[in-house]
Amino acid sequence: MFSKVLVANRGEIALRVIRACRELDIATVAVYSEADRESLHVTLADESVCIGPPPGRESYLVPVRIISAAIITGAEAIHPGYGFLSENTSFAEKVEGSGLVFVGPAPDSIRTMGNKSQARATMKAAGVPILPGSDGVVETAAEARALADGIGYPVILKARDGGGGKGMRVVRHGDELERLFQTAHGEAAAAFGNGALYVEKYLLRTRHVEIQLVGDGRGEAIHLFERDCSVQRRHQKLMEESPSPGLAPATREAMGRTAREAARRIGYRGAGTMEFLLDEDGSFYFMEMNTRLQVEHPVTEMVTGLDLVKMQLRVAAGEPLPLAQEQVRSAGHALECRINAESPAHGFRPSPGLVRRYRAPGGPGVRVDSHLYEGYTVPPHYDSLVAKIITHGADRSEAIARMRRALAETVIDGIETTIPFHLEILADPEFLAGRVDTRFVERRQEAAGQSGPPV
Ligand code: ADP
Repeated sequence: MFSKVLVANRGEIALRVIRACRELDIATVAVYSEADRESLHVTLADESVCIGPPPGRESYLVPVRIISAAIITGAEAIHPGYGFLSENTSFAEKVEGSGLVFVGPAPDSIRTMGNKSQARATMKAAGVPILPGSDGVVETAAEARALADGIGYPVILKARDGGGGKGMRVVRHGDELERLFQTAHGEAAAAFGNGALYVEKYLLRTRHVEIQLVGDGRGEAIHLFERDCSVQRRHQKLMEESPSPGLAPATREAMGRTAREAARRIGYRGAGTMEFLLDEDGSFYFMEMNTRLQVEHPVTEMVTGLDLVKMQLRVAAGEPLPLAQEQVRSAGHALECRINAESPAHGFRPSPGLVRRYRAPGGPGVRVDSHLYEGYTVPPHYDSLVAKIITHGADRSEAIARMRRALAETVIDGIETTIPFHLEILADPEFLAGRVDTRFVERRQEAAGQSGPPV
């Protein structure tokens, strides 16, 4: 096992990795921007290195600064967390080229899966069902139109290099394709440095169900069941749970088996997530693979009792998978609410600033992953996630009851958060009945007259 690991991230996920390292007796190096000097990940790590000014592109996104920090502190491996450089092929290559271990998959896997149209082709070849759509990138709006006319509307235009719900447009009629193609192309170019788009059939009533995988990089892989992430706003997840409500046992089994087989076939190393859309008739289709730890990984940890970050570190250090597929069990039900520093009453606009009072929830079945503390100032430069509250119960209704109690106990004064939004969802009869699809939040907002500009 490693004796020292550098954590190339900030916020709650940096803490999560530091905690796993501490339990494995691995020393940790934190990196931080000038805006994060007072951050908990800096306090809790054994050593820390300032890597630049506040903007991510001048600090957390600069490979040379991070790799230099690892070299001067004598770290043997770099854990990228999620976001920032976690799915950046060139970063992973540079880390390995510097004689360090990248805690993640082989750079080639990141490259293949990061190119979403290539990922579709790879999965199709591995026997995974995909939605009807383009074979690769569509160059022009006219080409997209011809394809979409053949597939039938609605279709979705998606950025080849996309992520975070950006660069996607749903096209309901052929005559709006040209305009939406230009919008999606422009948004993708601005966000990802390349405007390449592909086309996929758009499912109107679908669930987002994803399978957690861990591979050893030598052809063995296990799946850790599913997470349902259908509670979304603008294609971004807000709440996740496991098991997925109402998923037929045979479908669950088929999804796990399919994802695991594909991971074995590509010799996948480390933790990864295969995301699927689940249709009302039980058909499921590959959407994308995230080649990193996910924000919502604690949901899986709560139901399986496994520690995904420790598994990542073990596999990266060349150890075998700690258990066989038959030994993976899921017990009870877990739910996660993403608490963002945003104002749900004002279109989820960011709400950074000083946290005057903070009280975390506790008690049975409650886990809090957060870098907040009283007197901490949430900087405006980064992702707005400030806490993840996860509850576990014997069944879904107990997990939900615990979440309502936990959110009611939580005090975060000084900034606005998404807690009121979560409390509304947790009282919604459709949600309570488990009847949630990816457009559930949008429909509620439309009904309340707060739909905002179309996406
Ligand atoms: P990103 O990588 O930007 O998060 P994804 O491909 O994971 O993009 O898609 C994000 C969300 O967009 C999905 O969870 C789903 O709600 C919606 N979505 C994407 N593709 C489709 C599709 N073909 N049909 C219906 N919804 C889709």
